[in-house]
Amino acid sequence: MKDEPEILARAVVTECADCDICRFLMDTSCLFFPELYRLWDREKDTGEKITSGQLRALVDRCNFCALCPCPPVREKILRAKGAFIERDGLPGSVRVLEDVALMGRVCGTFPRLTQAVFRHGGLSRAARRVLGIHGQRTLPAFPKIDFFRWAEKQGLCRRPSAKTGRNVAYFAGCTAGYLFPEVAQAAVGVLQACGVAVWVPPQRCCGMPTLLEGDRKQTLRSVRENLQTLAAAVSAGFDIVCSCPTCGYFLRTLLPEGAYYTQAYQQSVGAGARHIMVPDSSPRSTSEPVRSFHRYDRAIYDTLFKDEGIFSGIDAMQRISVAEATQDLGAYLLHLSEEELRFSAFSGGSGRILYFPPCHQREQKIGRPYESLLSRIEGLRLEPIHGELYCCGMAGIMGFKAAFHDASLQLGRRLMEKIRKIQPERIVTDCLSCRLQFEQCLSYPVRHPVEMIRDAMQTGH
Ligand code: SF4
Ligand code: SF4
Repeated sequence: MKDEPEILARAVVTECADCDICRFLMDTSCLFFPELYRLWDREKDTGEKITSGQLRALVDRCNFCALCPCPPVREKILRAKGAFIERDGLPGSVRVLEDVALMGRVCGTFPRLTQAVFRHGGLSRAARRVLGIHGQRTLPAFPKIDFFRWAEKQGLCRRPSAKTGRNVAYFAGCTAGYLFPEVAQAAVGVLQACGVAVWVPPQRCCGMPTLLEGDRKQTLRSVRENLQTLAAAVSAGFDIVCSCPTCGYFLRTLLPEGAYYTQAYQQSVGAGARHIMVPDSSPRSTSEPVRSFHRYDRAIYDTLFKDEGIFSGIDAMQRISVAEATQDLGAYLLHLSEEELRFSAFSGGSGRILYFPPCHQREQKIGRPYESLLSRIEGLRLEPIHGELYCCGMAGIMGFKAAFHDASLQLGRRLMEKIRKIQPERIVTDCLSCRLQFEQCLSYPVRHPVEMIRDAMQTGH
């Protein structure tokens, strides 16, 4: 039977109302749970049923920051969102906005015209209305040349034959690719300076923005294309490296969900008829295959452990091979030796920087690689943000949308206040979506840690 969106959304409401943990745990870090409990309490107190429209608006409040404790509940919220979109359709403005690559290519081809349109009062209002962008949302400047065109000119898009040594297929992601090419260039520069051979393979959006919008068709299209290229890269001896924590989270964590339960995987690890072998989910920070397993009794768990998420129609072994070969750039650099990655002392300010570990970096459970790397730069004084429940609130393209803009600022307020109290010289974060929100809400310069690393290396080599 086709998924009924209301039934799917209602099931989440009932499950979380029964459990109740997130009523208090997530009351300041998430817009979804306070609304869920408000609707639930009202229904209980007054008998007023939660309507279809309210369920739809409720699931739209989840920005998939992954801060809440139950991945299966997040998956159900996404399924409900997807079912609403499949039945009711996606607004045209969202379809344009979610295609960051298209926006980047069009606006980047005519950067001056784009800036002029968005600076001109009347034109800007009209353009924002068409695209569904909030009037107060600061728009990024589109670069004259995006990273992919730059990489093409540098000869980085031709696949080198993977030689002995370190070989990386660099997955830049759309935000660095089309809005902040300097970050992707810094990543390439650092890797090359460390003796790593870098290839920029053909790539589409990782799929997270469309997944967040509930656009399953577009998500699957992007994922299938990327998987084909990336799986071939892995077979040819390349590690896949992401400088964007959201792309990394998507490829390493979301893509393989459920794939480990499939017959193909179970056979590949020699699970017998009586057990299901599930790899230990302890942090993976290198491309070493996972080797330790939990064993579950098949008689009990066979019906529970299933590959039935959004990606279940895609070859499970391909999903696993790409996920396990993918690494966060920070984690990859941390595993280079101190000989390969040498820093000179920081110069150019007091060196008092605040490092914000973004939600999707924390959720990858790889520790804090950039904190370790930056702390090796003499003269930098690192002010890390402690506490797991801080979120900037931007949520990728959701923060641009007229309907989500105010909520996005509200969600990020706690973090902004904390940063203002610290008063750093600059903010460093690996998430470019957070960077956009920081640039909108605060007055401190913002950089990606790999830019800091590149600068520290440049002076030292
Ligand atoms: S997300 Fe999980 S922990 Fe939170 S209320 Fe729902 S079931 Fe409970
Ligand atoms: S993923 Fe984030 S926004 Fe969605 S329910 Fe969990 S905490 Fe809330």
